[in-house]
Amino acid sequence: MKNLILLGAPGSGKGTLATDLCDEMEIEHISTGDLLRDVAASGSELGLQIKQIISSGELVPDNLIGQMIKDLLLTERVAKKGVMLDGFPRTIAQAEMLQQIMAEAGRQIDKVVYLKIDLAAIIKRLVNRVSCKVCGRPYHLINFPPKVAGKCDLDGGELIKRADDNEETVKKRYDTYMGKTMPLINYYKTQGLLYEVDSLIGRREVVEAVLSNI
Ligand code: AMP
Repeated sequence: MKNLILLGAPGSGKGTLATDLCDEMEIEHISTGDLLRDVAASGSELGLQIKQIISSGELVPDNLIGQMIKDLLLTERVAKKGVMLDGFPRTIAQAEMLQQIMAEAGRQIDKVVYLKIDLAAIIKRLVNRVSCKVCGRPYHLINFPPKVAGKCDLDGGELIKRADDNEETVKKRYDTYMGKTMPLINYYKTQGLLYEVDSLIGRREVVEAVLSNI
């Protein structure tokens, strides 16, 4: 039962890698971005606040996301499986919360996979990114297009573009990442948990590199 963390800038390929790895390993993909977009879409008071934060490229408060992860890890369905945390932690405070949550849940972090990429490549990727409205599977309109335009290969769901995948918000998200999330690289390196992989070596190559190093 492996517990993994995926670290990397927005557009580094965390979601794609998580999709591929979860197809091969019996573990639960937990994407905090997806969880938050669901709350945002609910139209509740909290959802509206979250929607505004997401479109500004900032982070939602640590306590809010920490509580969501804690609740999820303790649910019966997830408690029995390994997890792949995609998009969490994103700050040192969240990493410290996670350590406590993991201890309470009787788990430990086995590996932190760090996907390296530069800003120019990120922009090229994100402006061409779409994903399935139903299952969330990501596509790239040029490098990894769906078989039928506008439809998911798996379930035929409509392919949609994220509102925050425009050049201006991507740059803001990247700044947020550099300021708040980058310190986690050293944090986990010091703990001997970090495995670093170049995100641009190719989709299958990244999966294979990770599978043989976790
Ligand atoms: P993502 O899908 O991972 O790119 O996340 C989209 C947006 O959701 C981010 O730009 C943040 O506004 C918010 N978000 C996702 N995960 C977190 C987190 N762990 N902490 C704070 N905000 C988050």
